[in-house]
Amino acid sequence: MKTYKIATIPGDGIGKEVVPAGRIVMEAVASSQGDLRFEFENFDWGGDYYRQHGVMMPEDGLDALRGKDAILFGSAGDANIPDHITLWGLRLKICQGLDQYANVRPTRILPGIDGPLKRCAPEDLDWVIVRENSEGEYSGVGGRVHQGHPIEAATDVSIMTRVGVERILRFAFRLAQSRPRKQLTVITKSNAQRHAMVMWDEVAAQVAREFPDVAWDKELVDAATARMVNRPRTLDTIVATNLHADILSDLAAALAGSLGIAPTGNIDPERRYPSMFEPIHGSAFDIMGKGWANPVGTFWSVVMLLEHLGEAAAARRVMAAIEAVTADPALHTRDLGGQAGTDDVTRAVCAHLARHDAARAA
Ligand code: ATP
Repeated sequence: MKTYKIATIPGDGIGKEVVPAGRIVMEAVASSQGDLRFEFENFDWGGDYYRQHGVMMPEDGLDALRGKDAILFGSAGDANIPDHITLWGLRLKICQGLDQYANVRPTRILPGIDGPLKRCAPEDLDWVIVRENSEGEYSGVGGRVHQGHPIEAATDVSIMTRVGVERILRFAFRLAQSRPRKQLTVITKSNAQRHAMVMWDEVAAQVAREFPDVAWDKELVDAATARMVNRPRTLDTIVATNLHADILSDLAAALAGSLGIAPTGNIDPERRYPSMFEPIHGSAFDIMGKGWANPVGTFWSVVMLLEHLGEAAAARRVMAAIEAVTADPALHTRDLGGQAGTDDVTRAVCAHLARHDAARAA
């Protein structure tokens, strides 16, 4: 029997609905498997915590996470607290504090999902976007002076280090190598940004020599958006900077049918610290508290969490249950044009896991 310590951080908005649903699915897969156990600890950090304590999470919060095997996260964002406080005070604090430098975002059109690209067959879109998650445009370096005066000046300095670029590119090449097509597209903007982006190109060429079996190409980020829409089949694994990949992965999620489906992992590839898994959507205040949130993005994040723990069989079973459920339009939530609620989808995934188990036992 393997026991894993899991931290759950629902955060804000619909995070409080989808993370408990994710936990139910993890308990269902564990109980039907028999050789797997999870010990959960829940952390009530986020907007409500900020209103009580003046911070999104406690100063020593990272210490409480370090001993965990993985983290399941919901969302950070509150209608009454500025976004830079909610983001930097919780999600980025964890990602940077635990050096989760690789953000991995798989995108596929799941069975039963009607994507917006009419000329794209489901098998034409099967990507993993790797986002640099620790520096670049979101390194937090910069400042504001003379606030409110006409001479006010503000900077956000994008920091790219050779170590940072090299490690994310190596991670991306390795991931591309592990996928059937062994293909990587390195995205930059090295025509207009002539320092750090040129360094990305140079480091990419250097790291590529370690992976002779991976076919790789380069694309500028603006051209990449058009290629994603017009020639999705020509892409497989994609690596880009913090900002570029942030934007491209929202586009990818929309092209795959809904923001409510897409998962992500914030990974420490060296496994010094726990990695954190979360749906890519935000707090979605417009549907919060209504029971309408699509939990599939969280369930797919659970699949990534299980894969990261080395529980490949459990991961495959949860993914099969998700795909069986998305294939049934009666189980589509409103973002997919259906009427089902979070609970309906969660129950259906658990029922599928239990059925599979019963079939195996028979
Ligand atoms: P944040 O500021 O925290 O990123 P947001 O509301 O600006 O939050 P999202 O939460 O990403 O942005 O939501 C964008 C839109 O997509 C909203 O209309 C929301 O209702 C919808 N949406 C996002 N996630 C889901 C989901 N899991 N289920 C259903 N609809 C969703």
